[in-house]
Amino acid sequence: MNLKTVIGLEIHVQLKTKSKMFCRCDNNAENAAPNSLVCSICMGMPGTLPVANKTAIEWTLKTGLALNSEIAEFSRFDRKHYFYPDLPKGYQISQYDKPFCTGGFLEIDSEGTLKKIGIRRVHLEEDAGKLVHPVGKNFTLVDLNRAGTPLMEIVTEPEIASPSEAKIFIQELRSILRYLDISDADMEKGHLRCDANISIEVDKKEGIPVEIKNMNSFRMVERALLFEEKRQKDLLEKPLNYARGEGEKIIKETRGWDDAKGNTYSQRSKEFAQDYRYFPEPDLPPFAPHKAFNIEQLKQQLPELPAAKRLRYIKIGLPVQDAAIIAIDKSMAQYFEKVVQKVTPRLAANWIINELKSNGILSIAPDNLILLLEKIDKGEISGKISKEILGVMLDTGKKPEEIIVEKGIKQIGSEDELGQIIENIISKNDKSVIDYRAGKKEALGFLVGQVMRETKGQANPQIVNKLLIDKLAKD
Ligand SMILES: [Zn+2]
Repeated sequence: MNLKTVIGLEIHVQLKTKSKMFCRCDNNAENAAPNSLVCSICMGMPGTLPVANKTAIEWTLKTGLALNSEIAEFSRFDRKHYFYPDLPKGYQISQYDKPFCTGGFLEIDSEGTLKKIGIRRVHLEEDAGKLVHPVGKNFTLVDLNRAGTPLMEIVTEPEIASPSEAKIFIQELRSILRYLDISDADMEKGHLRCDANISIEVDKKEGIPVEIKNMNSFRMVERALLFEEKRQKDLLEKPLNYARGEGEKIIKETRGWDDAKGNTYSQRSKEFAQDYRYFPEPDLPPFAPHKAFNIEQLKQQLPELPAAKRLRYIKIGLPVQDAAIIAIDKSMAQYFEKVVQKVTPRLAANWIINELKSNGILSIAPDNLILLLEKIDKGEISGKISKEILGVMLDTGKKPEEIIVEKGIKQIGSEDELGQIIENIISKNDKSVIDYRAGKKEALGFLVGQVMRETKGQANPQIVNKLLIDKLAKD
């Protein structure tokens, strides 16, 4: 039996526009009191009329362009009906058969090979409110601050082949959304929410798709899909006699992810599109994106995206891994690009990834890091001392020069000063000198170590190395 995992993702992204999707209410509800950012439109009062947010549409089109999608000639909003207390109108304004963008792809790096994941569509809708269930109370509270927040939905083709690929896809997409500056795309805060459809193809025969919900972090997406992949494969490989009431079988359903228990559980059997009674939204006119926007201009306005950044970083000399780590993180990339104006790319990347990333990168001003790295580049301070200085910089925010003066760090860089110390070490270590001249290269390492000890690590090891070789060759 040949089993193949097939995953498709539906990703909802809250856009950080100033106002909501169809009214003028403030869209930033992060610290607002419940139901303080609402009006008659987003509370669904009868007789009110929605007006579409132009910026939200523009950002959706930009996302489509970034994902290589086709921008529709004709698009419109539709009503999607369902009844739930967080949806005051009894329907959600969404898009059904005429989304703003269709087709396209996003290229991801799946274990060293580039793979294009197809995009089915990108459309725009409104978010629902939030239900709050106070602990120990027998009632539920409704907060409509979020009702009407612009929500962009990105649907992939079922072309993702593993849970780890799904995680990589979402990380790459999040990076693009941040570069476009249209969403904070923080999964933990619900700006970016992901549902997944997963099925197992048996001998090239299509499997039964199961939808997974409630995955609120990258880690959860991967864990939930790994669990579900195994659950389905086990059911296929060891089928019990379901007719006799043994075991279970894979059914088309929605399952939730319980992160504490580490398993998925059945929520409900899946609705079909006809259950939603979709029909065109009569209160909003249909829309011709190519007439309302200059699509060519939008394309030109796109920032450099992570894939292009990676390639550029590799071209200026970064190892592939380092290029990937920096390019996917917008703030790290911006930081790197400032530093690299003055410092060699490899040195900059090395320090940003290995020394700063773990300490919270932006806690040192890039200009101060440049000052430190320039000293290393010129060989004025050793790697060991520079890490000590960095530690003080992280604690105090001081410039490296100040710290060098305050700590009385003597920079032993001049050949004169070092020359004397080296001669001293050579005269004290006859055996190593003889060994070195007899071809034992490791003896040189020992002598460098002695000089470093003598200078309390304040000499530049490369210069010491060079001077030692010169002297040992001469005498
Ligand atoms: Zn409103």
